Amino acid sequence: MHCRAGRGLARGVQIQQVTDRFVNMYLIRDPAGLSLVDADTPNGLWVLERALRQRGERLADLRHILITHADPDHMGSAAALCTAMGAARYTSRIEAEAMARGAPSREPQENWLITTSYAIMSWLMNVQPAQATAIVSLGDALSILGGLHVLTTPGHTAGHLSFFAPAYGMLFAGDSLLATRRGLHFADGPVTLDYATGWASAQLQAQLQPRIVCAGHGPVLQADHFPRVRLHFGNSGPYRCSSLPPYS
Ligand SMILES: [Zn+2]
Repeated sequence: MHCRAGRGLARGVQIQQVTDRFVNMYLIRDPAGLSLVDADTPNGLWVLERALRQRGERLADLRHILITHADPDHMGSAAALCTAMGAARYTSRIEAEAMARGAPSREPQENWLITTSYAIMSWLMNVQPAQATAIVSLGDALSILGGLHVLTTPGHTAGHLSFFAPAYGMLFAGDSLLATRRGLHFADGPVTLDYATGWASAQLQAQLQPRIVCAGHGPVLQADHFPRVRLHFGNSGPYRCSSLPPYS
């Protein structure tokens, strides 16, 4: 399904949501080359390869890999991607240090049950350490999508990043925001490190008035009415489910 936002993409710019069970990656094809936002779970590389193969592309075509944070469902295949080819890998300093250890950048705070469950999940996923090649922070802009701005959006993790393309009103929010079919939410689950900073990060992103939100989990959401977007996150927010333009 085409979405209104899709009509706004420049010629030669294509974006695809690739979902592996419960987590999203995003492929971006534009004049900067082929880019990927987040790197799935440790065993998910075949999902990405399949998506690329269907478009006549390969992992080796990737030029930029953007990691929002070092949780196992977002950087799990980063090590495999490192060995597969030599794309630049961007994240924050805090998340890069965690990636290099093959571990999340924080411990869940809530209770021992969740802490233990999280440790078991990380162990089962067997995340391999991966090296970032470029540390980025607020104020940096990548050459992707006509200027992809780096946002520091701590809360879910201390070094969490989001990426915003003003030319398209497109926000890649990782786990700083949670998209569901009922709308856009502040991701305040038990694995969120700090609710207060997380809420501040959500407000910051709301003020950008994104037209399209591509989160780490859930559907792509599109704002129906741009002026209403401001600070309207929540169950009754103005976002509706959408789909990105076909990647072909
Ligand atoms: Zn996640």
